[in-house]
Amino acid sequence: MQYMPPEIRSGHGTARELANIKGTVAVITMDEPWRLLQETCAWAPGTVHMVTDMELETLERLDRELPACDTIVGIGGGSCCDTAKFLAWKRDCRMVLVPTIVSVDAPLTDAVGVRVNGVVKYVGKIFPREMIIDYDLIQKAPPELNRAGAGDIASIHTALHDWQLAHRHNGEAFHADVAKAARECLEELDANADEIFAVSPRGIDTIVELYRREVEFCTRIGTSRPEEGAEHIVAYNLEHLTGRHFIHGDLVGLGIFIIARLQNNDPAWAEDLMRRLGLRFTCPDASLEEIRACIKTLEDFKEEAGMFFSVLDTTPVSPDFVAETVAEIQRIRDQDAQ
Ligand SMILES: [Zn+2]
Repeated sequence: MQYMPPEIRSGHGTARELANIKGTVAVITMDEPWRLLQETCAWAPGTVHMVTDMELETLERLDRELPACDTIVGIGGGSCCDTAKFLAWKRDCRMVLVPTIVSVDAPLTDAVGVRVNGVVKYVGKIFPREMIIDYDLIQKAPPELNRAGAGDIASIHTALHDWQLAHRHNGEAFHADVAKAARECLEELDANADEIFAVSPRGIDTIVELYRREVEFCTRIGTSRPEEGAEHIVAYNLEHLTGRHFIHGDLVGLGIFIIARLQNNDPAWAEDLMRRLGLRFTCPDASLEEIRACIKTLEDFKEEAGMFFSVLDTTPVSPDFVAETVAEIQRIRDQDAQ
């Protein structure tokens, strides 16, 4: 599908423009983002629907039961944006997205992430065309959620390494121009780390702009190789092992920490970058034992799940590596706790 760039209106209080939308409107949101929006602008659209879950069955029922409308407006995080995308795709109608946190790239991608019996599946094809980034609204969210948005850009560091490995060992297609564009995104992330940490307007714009570029080049070459490497295998395995859901940026941060070491790919630089971004790369919602089990089973997991080629195919995860990496995470946690 041809990439279509969104029109992004960012600024202080830009969400107030919502009240000017003509025709009938259905808002897709959740309690908390809707409450925050009402603080910024009291607005009473025709229909307001609160998202409950992302099961495909729920979404199809919602499409049947939600009244007809000219415009769907998604207000909130990933689930609200994805539900809005699903409905606008089904109904082929206008859609406006108002992310209230910049923690995931859902407001920018063409895919709709749904769940079928709890397993993530991507359906639909719709490129968001209109987006409102209201700094005041986004700054009301817990800062760590917004900082977590840097995870899927910082992952370029380890993903590019794996992509090159796959090219050399496996003959996988490699696009040098895209790799260069991805590296430039990583450099801009690095240069704006303080702003991202502060969740300043410039920090918010940086994350949105880097996501936009990442989605553009990944769509162009039809693969997420430039930003998805073995650090994501760590993320998938930890969710698989624990059966729990984590903040994606926490998981990817942990993945970058572990995989940069395994790749021998400037791990100190990666750690310093993640510190400056405020990425919680020791993944505080997982226990050390869970992290140990995750690292230990990485090779088995990538085999069973049929994961893409990565450093896990060229460098063994030795018992020493597991012990040293877990000890290091423990040390950092202890240090941060002081
Ligand atoms: Zn990701």
